Amino acid sequence: MGRSLIIIGNWKMHKTLQEAEQFVRDFLKKVPSCEIEVGLAVPFTALAALSLLTESFLKIGAQDVSQHNEGAYTGEISGAMLRDAGASFTLVGHSERRRYHQEGAKVIAHKVRAALSQGLRVVLCVGETEQEHFLGETEKVLEEQLLQGLKEIKEEEVSSLVIAYEPVWAIGTGRAAMPEEAQRAHSFCRSVIEKKYGKGVAMRLSILYGGSVSDKNIQELLKKPDIDGALVGGASLNVESFVTIVNLSGEINL
Ligand code: PEP
Repeated sequence: MGRSLIIIGNWKMHKTLQEAEQFVRDFLKKVPSCEIEVGLAVPFTALAALSLLTESFLKIGAQDVSQHNEGAYTGEISGAMLRDAGASFTLVGHSERRRYHQEGAKVIAHKVRAALSQGLRVVLCVGETEQEHFLGETEKVLEEQLLQGLKEIKEEEVSSLVIAYEPVWAIGTGRAAMPEEAQRAHSFCRSVIEKKYGKGVAMRLSILYGGSVSDKNIQELLKKPDIDGALVGGASLNVESFVTIVNLSGEINL
């Protein structure tokens, strides 16, 4: 199928510049080269410095991007600024942005549009809450979030897109989705993409799983046919555990 395996760490609001630089230096000492793609979604303040330290397989990205390209938007960071600082990708629509910053469907769609048009790769995060999960609404929520997030996106732009399925109830809880359960959701996400853009596009799209990924569950998750990598929060903060996850993922890729 030819989809590359991708592991992305999401540091959220953690690490000073010095801590961030130390992490990347230590990581590259332990993993000097790698067959899979690895990314770190870091705080804005660390982007420029880390971009200068990285190797080709290790990409530095942002955790959010403005929906606007320029203007009087105090506190916002545009896609062009992220590129300028060396970011090659950005997360969009993380559940913490949806929940704590009231980001709705329209804003997220504009952010996807803005980031792609500035040449960034976009990791669009989707996922149901615990309540939606128990009400059996997972597929409805995923379909809505995908179609709304990609409303303005043309077929030829999907090659710069990655989807991250992150059930909100699994994020930071230590309760990862079971591999079969995650596989069902991933396969459903792919079917939504297929309906909108066709089979070829859907088969080439990488869909990552996120939510309490650790060295204990990464390999079982990656063995599933529609799970093409992982978005890793807590376990990406410690260099040893992130290195282990990357190495274990590399074994599955062989
Ligand atoms: C995340 O917030 O993207 C995430 C997956 O967090 P954790 O791995 O800590 O559940």
